[in-house]
Formats: sequence, C-alpha cells, structure tokens
Amino acid sequence: MADSKSKKNKCSFCGRSENEVGFLITGMNGYICDSCSTQAYEITQEALGQTKKAKGATKLNLEELPKPIAIKSFLDQYVIGQDDAKRFLSVSVYNHYKRLLQHDSGDDVEIEKSNIIMVGSTGTGKTLLARTIAKLLHVPFTIVDATVLTEAGYVGEDIESILTRLLQVADYNVAEAEQGIVFIDEIDKIARKSDNPSITRDVSGEGVQQGLLKLLEGSVVNVPPQGGRKHPDQKMIPVNTKNILFICGGAFDGIEKKIAQRLNTHVVGYSASQKTARVDKSNMMQYIAPQDLKSFGLIPEIIGRLPVLTYLNPLDRDALRAILTEPKNSIIKQYIKLFEMDGIELTFEEDVFDYIVDKAVEYKLGARGLRSIVETIMMDTMFEIPSANEKEYKVTLEYAKQQLEKANLSRLQTA
Ligand code: ADP
Repeated sequence: MADSKSKKNKCSFCGRSENEVGFLITGMNGYICDSCSTQAYEITQEALGQTKKAKGATKLNLEELPKPIAIKSFLDQYVIGQDDAKRFLSVSVYNHYKRLLQHDSGDDVEIEKSNIIMVGSTGTGKTLLARTIAKLLHVPFTIVDATVLTEAGYVGEDIESILTRLLQVADYNVAEAEQGIVFIDEIDKIARKSDNPSITRDVSGEGVQQGLLKLLEGSVVNVPPQGGRKHPDQKMIPVNTKNILFICGGAFDGIEKKIAQRLNTHVVGYSASQKTARVDKSNMMQYIAPQDLKSFGLIPEIIGRLPVLTYLNPLDRDALRAILTEPKNSIIKQYIKLFEMDGIELTFEEDVFDYIVDKAVEYKLGARGLRSIVETIMMDTMFEIPSANEKEYKVTLEYAKQQLEKANLSRLQTA
C-alpha cells in the first residue's frame, strides 16, 4: 500500500518523489515538481523569444499609412503653432515608411534616410510633437535623453543603450526595432563647448558624438537587452541601425547669437542695413542653418547625418492662451474632466484665462508654467469640493487672483 502511494507521487518529468522535492503539482495523469515546472517555464520563454526574433517585421502597406497632410492635421489637434516643424516631421515620417516599403521591392534606387534635428527653446513643444507623432505610428518609437550619455565614467550609459528602449518597445522583435523611430532629446547637451576642438577639448562631449555618429550612419550595434551596466552577463543583441529614423531635439541655448553673427546683423552701412531690414530679430531661430550647429559645438559629421533641420518658434501670448484651452487634451480640458468624474461641472470666467497667461508671461514661466499656475489656483477647490455635494463650480477672476496672490508666484519660477 505504502509502496503504491510513493510510486504514484513522483514527478513525471524527473522521477523524484514527493519528499525529495519542494512540492508536486497534480495533473490529469501525472505530477510535476517545482524545479521541473520552473525549468519548463524557462524553456517556453526562450522558445517564444526565438520565434519572435525569427518572425520578422510587420508588413507595412502604403495605402493604410497616414499621408503627410493627415499626419500634420493629427499633430494640429494636440500641438499649437509650430507649422514648420510639423510639416518637416510629417514628411520625414511618411518618407520613412516609404523607405521601409521600397526596402522590400529590390530595385536599384535606394532611398536614404533623412534624420531630423529640431531646434527650439525649452518648453516650446519638441517633446510634445514627438510624443504625439508616436500615437499615430505603425513602427516602434521611443524617446531617449542624450544627457544620460554625457556623465563620465560608470555613471553614464553607453551609447548603445539608446537602442535598448527601442528593442523593449518592439517586444524584442529585432526586425521590427530595426524599422523604428528614436527621438533623442537634449542633443545640444553633447555639444563640444567650443567650435575649435584644439582650444577647449571637451572629450566626453566629442566621444559621445562619435558614438552617436555610428548609430546615425547605420551600422550593426550590439545592444544590451536590459540596458545599462547593471547586468554584465547579459547576451548582446545585434541591431542594424540602417533603417532606424533618428529625430533629435535640443534647445541650443544662445544659438541665436551665432545666427545673428552669421547674418552679420551688427554690420553698419547702407548695404548692411538693407540686408538686416529683412531679418526679423525677434525670432532669429527661423534663420537657423547647419553652420550654426557647428558653431554651437556639434561635429560636422553629425550635422551631415541630420540633413533635415527645422526650428520651433518661441511661444507668444496668443500661443500660450491657445495652449491653455485648445489642444485636444489641453490643461483646462483635463481639469474639467477631473471635476466631471466627481459629478461636478467646472467652468471658468473668460478673464481667468487671460490672467493665467499674463502671469505666465510676467514670471517667464512658459507653457510648462501654465499647469503650475492652474494647479495653484485649483488646489483648495480640489481639496474641498469632492466632499461638498455641489453639482457645478465656476472659477471667477477674483478667486483666481486671490489664490495666486496667496501662493507667492515667484516660487514657481525655479520649478
Ligand atoms: P520641449 O520643447 O522642452 O521638449 P515640451 O514639449 O516638453 O517642451 O513642452 C512642455 C509642455 O508645454 C508640454 O507638455 C505642453 O503641455 C506644453 N506645450 C509646449 N509647447 C506647446 C505647443 N506648441 N502646443 C501645445 N502645448 C505645448
């Protein structure tokens, strides 16, 4: 009897009996022990990974892909102004798709990729454009920050880690990641501090640029699947960057001066004044040219690999006012939604919006500051009203003023 019991309670895979293992799981006609089930799980994961890698990329179909005008009008729903940048982005993304499709067609004309660089002050919508375009895409997309690459020594990340995120988004399907789009933010942070490499040698900046160049040019890069250096024993995955589209963004603080120098706005005299008359000095960014990026400290090879150069306009009063209420998920619409979830209809006196914009301009808070201002105005109400059993709430100008004055706005400036 005892014999038959021990015979029955054995792992059907390794044959060990119940008291030799942690525990046994009972099946229809057998058992599996804890260590065999763990092993089975690992085998399954590995096999699934292999099939994913072998599967290849999703087939794209040009008919189904959004055309440049459609891409731009999608961007228009979320991003105010910045028409030039939107057009450049829309065309580049569309061409990226076309290049991927012709890749399969096997004829002789090979369309080269045109990586993009967007220049514009911080808070003018570069990341927002990138995030919005990601919503529409049919290829893997990721945003990485170039600043993590600048720190020297073991704190900084290797340049290859830029592709780790893309692999993760593509669920480790290498073929799919190889068609993806990467947005590299704060590209200006890896600029050399001087145009002249022999005077101020900023080795780390230049080293990072050289590394980045390899990715932009198109080469096979060994990517750590988990990223960083925390997993030294991880197996590297080779990724070919030939068809990956890189979109770079940066504030390039102070580049207006370099543009002005180039345009020679300081020259006096008749012919010079004629020339400068056409220059709109309030928005120098619109005249940006590749040589200004070089003066700023990007190496010429990198600039050559970013042939599409576009700019973002500084946000004026009207743009800030529009940002507050117009985009599909504008700040004000988000608050209205928050209140709606408590069954409260939130409204604002029109003057409140102008007041918010006035304050953002006065304290130079930009578009990012709009949210902090609205948050400050709404905080007390959001604390009290969910318990107050109200059905509607109107924010008056008087209330907005009172809340902001109480809060000491200058505190927000450093935020
Ligand atoms: P950056 O140019 O520094 O990448 P962001 O795109 O991160 O700026 O902008 C910061 C925030 O400001 C965004 O999340 C958005 O709420 C707002 N914003 C900035 N520019 C615009 C714009 N043109 N249209 C709509 N919102 C904007």
